[in-house]
Amino acid sequence: MEERTVVILGATGSIGRQTLDVIEHEKSFKLVGISFHRNVDFAKEVVEKFGVTNVVVTSGVSVDLPGIRIWRGVEGLRRMLEELKPDITVIAISGFDALEAVLIAIENSKRVCLANKESLVCGGFLVKEKLAKHNTELIPVDSEHNALFQLMEEDVEKVILTASGGALRDWDLTELPKAKPEDVLRHPVWNMGNRITVDSATMVNKAFEVLEAMELFDLPFEKIEVKIHREGLVHGMLVLPDGSVKILLSKADMRIPISYALSYPNRMRLKNAVVELSGRSLVLSFEDPDPKRYPAFFLVGHIKHSYRDRIAYNAADEVAVEAFLKGKISFGGIYVIIEKTLERMISFPEPRSLEEVKVLHELSKREAERVEEWLSSTSC
Ligand code: NDP
Ligand code: MG
Repeated sequence: MEERTVVILGATGSIGRQTLDVIEHEKSFKLVGISFHRNVDFAKEVVEKFGVTNVVVTSGVSVDLPGIRIWRGVEGLRRMLEELKPDITVIAISGFDALEAVLIAIENSKRVCLANKESLVCGGFLVKEKLAKHNTELIPVDSEHNALFQLMEEDVEKVILTASGGALRDWDLTELPKAKPEDVLRHPVWNMGNRITVDSATMVNKAFEVLEAMELFDLPFEKIEVKIHREGLVHGMLVLPDGSVKILLSKADMRIPISYALSYPNRMRLKNAVVELSGRSLVLSFEDPDPKRYPAFFLVGHIKHSYRDRIAYNAADEVAVEAFLKGKISFGGIYVIIEKTLERMISFPEPRSLEEVKVLHELSKREAERVEEWLSSTSC
């Protein structure tokens, strides 16, 4: 197969490292550039191991990498991608800041493999505008959406996204508000970055994924269902008009969707990836999420059609999760911060540009921080 050049943005994170793992022994992919935020040591390892010659640093940390071209900040990212014009850019950056990187990557790559969800949640209209202008493929890496991408048909009755229910899925409801970071970070199925692990326990992650599915597949909200699926084997389902249900079943291993996004329409051979089905009785359970356990998830119905509200929801969650992980608020406080921030942002107009999206994000964060201060002082 012809060699394809790859850039990984956010190469030092959980998705970034798994992408490196996938391409390490694949001669058909050549890593030509990476970005990282703060983890200089791991970035150095990548440079040495993969012979990468272009590195973007998105934070202010100092870097000593002789012989390597170092680019700084978003402008550096733009200039590097304009020069490299990679076949594939993988977006493994976490959080809102990935939005601008996605837009730049769409302008300068043949294919964008997108793991980040905040960019679609907050700026889906900008991503779609950009895709319409450039002839770029966008392939989802998020496991549920990658599954739907593999299954998709023209005419669907509905799609089903599965959720693990997070680390607290079996906790007594009365104990839930008191859960500690170490309880929440013990995810039953996936091993991921901290924010997304907390977002799994509140199912805010699944709210993001519903919005992500609306953007990626142009689906109305009403056609998207979410089921808690404890076994972590089914990642996405399509219900078709004739009653057939297509299911994508695989191990809970992010290397699978990452490899498919990179190699589509072909497939790679992955070590230790195949689920052993023979000789075992396969149990697949699907439950409806409980509004009392996951109140923050159910807010998705209120925010689905407003980018202002989606931006506020994401920013408030970002602030709330950080405060929770630092021990400043209780687990129950996450919902309070999101709900109050949404209320406070209601008078702002809908954003029409990247600048307006960024302003709304900053304003929402400030409001969320005020709610957080109030909440900490009342020791929720
Ligand atoms: P991690 O926190 O593990 O990694 C984040 C990466 O982004 C790191 O390389 C980090 O650099 C970099 N980064 C952090 N902040 C910034 C910033 N402000 N600007 C630029 N780069 C930054 O996250 P994950 O890998 O878990 O998740 C990445 C994205 O993929 C998220 O949007 C997540 O929701 C999504 N996703 C993750 C899944 C998973 O299994 N982990 C599954 C599906 C989706 P450094 O480490 O050097 O500071
Ligand atoms: Mg997912």
